[in-house]
Amino acid sequence: MSKGALFIVPTPIGNLQDITFRAIETLKSVAIIYAEDTRNSGKLLKHFEISTSLKSYHKFNERARVDEIISKLKSGEDVAIISDAGTPGISDPAQIIVKKCVKNGIQIIPIPGAIAAIVALSASGLSTESFSFYGFIPKTEIKQKEFLKNLISKKETLIFYESPKRVEQTLHNFLEIFGNREVVIAKELTKIYETFFRGKIKKVLAQLNESNLKGEFVILLEGAGEIEVSDSGIANLLEMEIISGKSQKDAVKNVSENLEVRKNRVYQILLKLGK
Ligand code: SAM
Repeated sequence: MSKGALFIVPTPIGNLQDITFRAIETLKSVAIIYAEDTRNSGKLLKHFEISTSLKSYHKFNERARVDEIISKLKSGEDVAIISDAGTPGISDPAQIIVKKCVKNGIQIIPIPGAIAAIVALSASGLSTESFSFYGFIPKTEIKQKEFLKNLISKKETLIFYESPKRVEQTLHNFLEIFGNREVVIAKELTKIYETFFRGKIKKVLAQLNESNLKGEFVILLEGAGEIEVSDSGIANLLEMEIISGKSQKDAVKNVSENLEVRKNRVYQILLKLGK
């Protein structure tokens, strides 16, 4: 008996019109759909008159569901997976299932569709030539700053998902670590209140307030490009390393690596700081 195929089916990230004909046809034709949230997806399926049976898989039961899904596929049934919004596997569960299918030689058929990061990038006005997507940024301030420091010398556009509760604080952290670079905040993409805030970090921060910080957000940051690293940028980062308890030697090493500047230059600035 031939095996079934696993279909990765993107769903809209807000506007219900953003589902493809192929996605709808696939969801109608498979034996079963596994959804991150069956109540949420139930409404979507009803809207498109899809009556295929629906079962849950989410980050808490994905491992347990894998064997069940694999056995259905091995018995010849086609299976689709969908997440709450956008593409399964992109800051959403699905990876474990996909990996297991690869291991078991099961065909995986991806249907193209919405990904909030790419939708945001396409209209950001920032460079689209090369970019890195990091998903959700670490939540706590200490972990976030540690994480961001490693991105200082990245030349490409950087893309993050962030909760509305933390967008403003995250921008302050960006300012501290990257300096006043260009940033784009893409809010509520494809929905009624879709808004882009564009400009230098300080300008964008000045535009944000309690009432416009509701909804879903993608943050995009201009890459380092060929910008010359300033002495004050180096000094700032050195101070942060030393405050976080690093030895002078490690601080110089980390800053030199993160900013891609010569160790000797960093050392001279450390001496001027009198540390
Ligand atoms: N799988 C989804 C995708 O393909 O983009 C991402 C799911 S992740 C759990 C949810 C996050 O994606 C949100 O917190 C937000 O950062 C971003 N996001 C999803 N929909 C969005 C929208 N309509 N506008 C802006 N950001 C969105």
